[in-house]
Amino acid sequence: MRIELLNNPNYLNKTIIRLPQKKCEFDTIALKDIKDNVCACCGRKLISASTYQKFWTEITLPLKTAIQGNWFEKVKNCLPDTLNYLGEMSEKFPNKSFDFIFSNPENFEDLRSVIQDDMHYSGKNYANNNDWFAQVKKYTYVLRSFSRKHLQPASVIIENMKPFVESLDSLKKGIYEYFREKVFQYPDKSLLEIIREPDEATENIINTRLMIDERASVRDFHFNNVKELICSKAPELKEKAEEIERIANMKYQRNLEQSNTRYLVKEIYKEFLNDYDLNDLQDKIMSELDQIPKSYRSPESFLSYARISYTDAAIIESIINGAMASEDHIIPVSDGGKNYFDNIIVLCRKCNKERGNTPYTDYLDYNEQMPYFVNEQLQTVCKKILNGELNPKYREYPLKVVPKIVAVSEGKIFPDISEYVKESRKRNNTALINLQNLLLYPENEENIRAKIEEERHFSRQLDYFEKWQNEQQ
Ligand SMILES: [Zn+2]
Repeated sequence: MRIELLNNPNYLNKTIIRLPQKKCEFDTIALKDIKDNVCACCGRKLISASTYQKFWTEITLPLKTAIQGNWFEKVKNCLPDTLNYLGEMSEKFPNKSFDFIFSNPENFEDLRSVIQDDMHYSGKNYANNNDWFAQVKKYTYVLRSFSRKHLQPASVIIENMKPFVESLDSLKKGIYEYFREKVFQYPDKSLLEIIREPDEATENIINTRLMIDERASVRDFHFNNVKELICSKAPELKEKAEEIERIANMKYQRNLEQSNTRYLVKEIYKEFLNDYDLNDLQDKIMSELDQIPKSYRSPESFLSYARISYTDAAIIESIINGAMASEDHIIPVSDGGKNYFDNIIVLCRKCNKERGNTPYTDYLDYNEQMPYFVNEQLQTVCKKILNGELNPKYREYPLKVVPKIVAVSEGKIFPDISEYVKESRKRNNTALINLQNLLLYPENEENIRAKIEEERHFSRQLDYFEKWQNEQQ
């Protein structure tokens, strides 16, 4: 019965939506770009592909460095001319990164045609443009990957990130250094484990915060002494003294360099004392100012810093542990599985690699939790669809993917999306009634009819699903 349904062209083929090959236009986004998703195999929180990319796009290492470092060695055999071409481009733009050079459409077209030739000579011909474009995307992705070496295992990554560190901003550089140290300190732990260790990172943050508070109070104490010294000698200058204190305080809060803040503040006070003929106070005031701790950062700014470092830590961790979202073909491409969204669930890279082409029936033998996590992933996606966070085209996704995954796992994985179906049915009925009513005002008739057709189509999908669901019982 199940197989019949899957083979039913009305059910599967008629309305198939191709996954976008190009990076998400407004229209739809790729499944692996869905935020807050969990891996359908291990339940780990996934880093969406776009978050991951955001991190990488800040890296501006010159292509030349990658060429000179022989980072493309692995593609040398399949793309020899491409490699030569990249070499030429790196000479032509010695200080520019891969991304920068090929964000220029002309350069990208050239790259495309070189890769095309390379592939032609290697005996691969692609019947149509889409396949061809997908291949180019794949190869440019591979090139980027190798240049970034993010496919390397574990703590090797931290080492391999070294050349990139110079191109990170100072905040990220600091985070990198922090984690590098920790990785060496705890070679057996993942970075996330290190962060979660309550007596490590948390205590560190608390201590630093206390220290910051303490410093702030020390600073206030000395500024207050300065003010009292001035007022004891010239009470009429109280307001002026407060004004100067405010300026000096800001120097401490805003000056990121911090090394010369004390010098600047002392100069401000020297001028002030000179202007009001209070030079005999100078020694005492300078000695107060000397006792103010050199660096100062507000607790707020520190905490926001901690938040940023946590996000980055998660990303760095994802590079190390492979928690980046990737699309897994339920029926492997090698077994004729299609690259359509009803054949895809999202796994972390690690699980995706582990599973390879193993059929789910076998894979489940050593991953007993999978049924639970597949369900969790679908609940996340369903919730996002209902909340309007995904393109309406995704409405059909759960309806199509569930029967497929039930079929390939021989019923061992059986996600429960009945609530989703119920809510969707309700909304679909309301939408159809509303649209029919709108037809009474025929200004936009064509549009409305198209929308009605969309809703009817979705209604049929719901029918198929419910029919299937009943047959399962
Ligand atoms: Zn996983």
